[in-house]
Amino acid sequence: RAKTRGRNSIHYFTENMSTDFLKRMEMIDDLRTAVEQQQFHLVYQPIVDLRTHQITKAEALIRWHHPQKGMISPIEFIPIAEEIGLIVEISEWIFNQVSQQAHEWRQRYCANLSISINTSPVQYRNEGKLVKAWADSLIAQGISSEAISIEITEHLLMENQAEVVEALEKLRQQGITISIDDFGTGYCSFSYLKNFAFDYLKIDQSFVQNMSIDNNDAALCEAIIVMAGKLNMQVIAEGIETEEQKQLLVAAGCTLGQGYLLSKPLSVADFEQLLIKQNQ
Ligand code: C2E
Ligand code: MG
Ligand code: MG
Ligand code: MG
Repeated sequence: RAKTRGRNSIHYFTENMSTDFLKRMEMIDDLRTAVEQQQFHLVYQPIVDLRTHQITKAEALIRWHHPQKGMISPIEFIPIAEEIGLIVEISEWIFNQVSQQAHEWRQRYCANLSISINTSPVQYRNEGKLVKAWADSLIAQGISSEAISIEITEHLLMENQAEVVEALEKLRQQGITISIDDFGTGYCSFSYLKNFAFDYLKIDQSFVQNMSIDNNDAALCEAIIVMAGKLNMQVIAEGIETEEQKQLLVAAGCTLGQGYLLSKPLSVADFEQLLIKQNQ
């Protein structure tokens, strides 16, 4: 009897919940299962020298293949993984995968390869203990700190500047380079550029993609490239899709780029083939 009542109350409960809420609960459940069953994998998007087409960098991007629902975009699940704290576990897995993969590829195909990892604000809590441990972990495994690079977004710096900057400084001292990702889309403030020396500034794809159709976007890209140069940061243009965008960026003095024109994110096997071809 208790069982019947239980079922009825669940029925009542679900009927009165918004579908958004239920979808969210389901996503949380599915994410926990995904971590347990290792349903994630990484793809690697080449970051290319726009003049020589040489590849010495790549960005690791997570993919989730859900057994029933198919591919789910990181744009959908990363924010939820961040909210429930599961991103910490996922990111530790990413770090281990990427550092070992980069180490292997450096030894076999490309001695100066560096692979960047996207990081979330949650990982910088408690004085950035988690990311600080990454530098120590690389040393313990005999992996060069140049094998990995870290991407952060502007939002991260808004949350707790002092704590985040302190953690990033420790990483930089140990030789891990830092990129500011999606530059220009967050609560952009120049003060953090003054207070912290990033190695790379990634121009957000929204500016790059409108370069050839909107003079304001072109002007912003050019200004960002000049500014970064003066601040001793290298620029990486994101989301390059056309030859024209590439030419405009090269003309403006941008040397590194990423985008479908150059290469889509690749599987481990395909990225490896690219490195092999590059050596021939
Ligand atoms: P992001 O870090 O800015 O990554 C760049 C996104 O742009 C990737 O989408 C990439 O596939 C896409 N992209 C690259 N070239 C082009 C292009 O030419 N045109 C267009 N339209 N898109 C291009 P993706 O893989 O769906 O990732 C979306 C976002 O999810 C990432 O933006 C990042 O913020 C987050 N993300 C992805 N992987 C991870 C991860 O491992 N950890 C964390 N914390 N976040 C991740
Ligand atoms: Mg990124
Ligand atoms: Mg980006
Ligand atoms: Mg983005």
